Amino acid sequence: MMDIEQCITYPCNLQMYIVPPTGKIRSEELREWCIDRVRVLKLVEEILMKNYKKTPVQCAETLIHELENNGIHEFANLINIHNYSHSGVEHFVRYDCASHFILRSAFSFEQNKKKWFVKYETKLFAWRLSFLDKDNVKMLLDLSNLQYSIVSSEEIEQIKDDLILSSVENVANIKFYKTSFNNVIRAVKKRHVYIKNGIAYVPETKMFWLIIPAFNKTLINGFANARVVASNTYGNLKITEILGTLSSLIKTRSFKCNYHNDVPIDQLDELSRTSYPLCMRLLHEALRTKHHLTNGGRVQYCLFLKGIGLSLNNAIQFWKDEFTKTVDERTFEREYKYYIKHLYGEVGRRAKYEPSPCFKIFKAEVGLKDNHGCPYKHMELHILKSTLTKCGLIRSDINSIVELSKDGHYLQACKRYYEAKDLCIIGNTIDHPNEFFEYSRKNIQTECPDVED
Ligand code: SF4
Repeated sequence: MMDIEQCITYPCNLQMYIVPPTGKIRSEELREWCIDRVRVLKLVEEILMKNYKKTPVQCAETLIHELENNGIHEFANLINIHNYSHSGVEHFVRYDCASHFILRSAFSFEQNKKKWFVKYETKLFAWRLSFLDKDNVKMLLDLSNLQYSIVSSEEIEQIKDDLILSSVENVANIKFYKTSFNNVIRAVKKRHVYIKNGIAYVPETKMFWLIIPAFNKTLINGFANARVVASNTYGNLKITEILGTLSSLIKTRSFKCNYHNDVPIDQLDELSRTSYPLCMRLLHEALRTKHHLTNGGRVQYCLFLKGIGLSLNNAIQFWKDEFTKTVDERTFEREYKYYIKHLYGEVGRRAKYEPSPCFKIFKAEVGLKDNHGCPYKHMELHILKSTLTKCGLIRSDINSIVELSKDGHYLQACKRYYEAKDLCIIGNTIDHPNEFFEYSRKNIQTECPDVED
């Protein structure tokens, strides 16, 4: 048994994790709960990658389904139970609370891990919040000391027409809360909320506008204390082992491009076949055959080339050689050259634009005339199949890549492509096209690199 705290009685199945739990708990149990929570957050990450257009309720339903499929039944039950008096809920709440606070401490020392934790805990919270009814939302507000004043019926009567104009439905039958517009800045930016004299009028049906930013703030502010708690446990080998294990479960490699290479233009055809991920290979081939790419393709490919080390002069020459097969030189200079220089940070805002990671490419809007995006996500499966055949992959590899794509495992599909092409097994998935390129170059020059390092 360890003196890790047991959850105080908490009358709602969702909480803002303001008060750490107190009491005793078995270390093996705590370890299992925490590892489960990391798995939950990884599922949230995966669902977000695949279903970025779904509503919070749909995402929560997908998460419950995935949790059941992965045998994480306790967490699935926790999200699914709407009534706190349901038997066993206290156990789930304790599990939720203890695992959250331990993860917060485990990730509190590294910036990337903190960001990862905040991002996916906030999403998880938002999805769970979408499952709560009005009474539970009210209870959550009270328990979290989030007190907002209720707008009186006289005041509502005075501003009723404005509220209706700001798309609030059923004005006569719902409550409104008043808060400073600073507390609902995102809703204000999207013009979702009625504002008068700096005061935002938030309908009770949209309380998530207030609750989610408050939750986010609580998490970020909680890291300082979580670090102190972790530091104070250094003498306790069991806790130190759990914190170390949890921290090692998260790989938040922030890929940095190597801008010091000097890639010659005449090597790009060869490199596209040997070392590009499929998304960039297809963009290269489309550019070579059509002598043009739509805007999304130009940005995606130009930044990738910048990241592999194509100099600005070579980039201008490369794009010019292709584009001037269909447009005259003056048009190229006027419409395209400036933009290439802009992406290289030489003109305009001189921003340091980085090549896009996979998760950003997954979100691309891809039309019929476009060649950008991720082929495993955006391509019709039969086209993907014939594309992989043209790339020279054998049937069994093609089938497994297509199956992975069909199931939404785009990074896994990309990893299989890498392994099939380079005949090299890698441990982890690669989530950046330039990282794919670098691993492939290393593999060709040396032996199979260990991606998990
Ligand atoms: S998973 Fe990433 S690197 Fe691979 S093809 Fe898709 S976007 Fe490109």
